[in-house]
Amino acid sequence: MCCSTMRKLVSFSIAAVLSLASCSQQKQNQSTSSKMIPQVIKTEEEWKSELSPEQFRILREKGTERAFTGEFWDHHDIGTYSCAACGQELFQSDSKFDSGCGWPSYFKAINELVISEEKDTSYGMVRTEVMCSKCGGHLGHIFPDGPPPTGMRYCINSGSLVFKPNTP
Ligand SMILES: [Zn+2]
Repeated sequence: MCCSTMRKLVSFSIAAVLSLASCSQQKQNQSTSSKMIPQVIKTEEEWKSELSPEQFRILREKGTERAFTGEFWDHHDIGTYSCAACGQELFQSDSKFDSGCGWPSYFKAINELVISEEKDTSYGMVRTEVMCSKCGGHLGHIFPDGPPPTGMRYCINSGSLVFKPNTP
């Protein structure tokens, strides 16, 4: 092998390694940003003017409505439940079930990208808080005591949701 061929080979393999490295770096950045950072960012004042006092208390201040008082715990229409703050679709009526807990309960979300989860240790309990991935609004909590097929129970405040019936 002559010297110039050798040099070409070496520079080619360096370029290949470099492009591989930058590719995997980019991939890592993308997955972190899409999962953790809300896309809809408003000041608390803006949210306050757009939401009802009850919606604001739940979505922005992580409040909880009293059991059996919300609009949707006993709601059985066919349609889609969306985030009351940003409108992102979160749950379908076909994954809603009667949990008896007094809040609307679902065994799965529309897809895994619409929900962010975070460990919540408030009130002396260890729970998993669920939030809308698009605006960061508090929705409720998720518990591992739901029905099949997922075994999960998304326990959600009615006040964080709006319902749109399916049109035939
Ligand atoms: Zn939202």
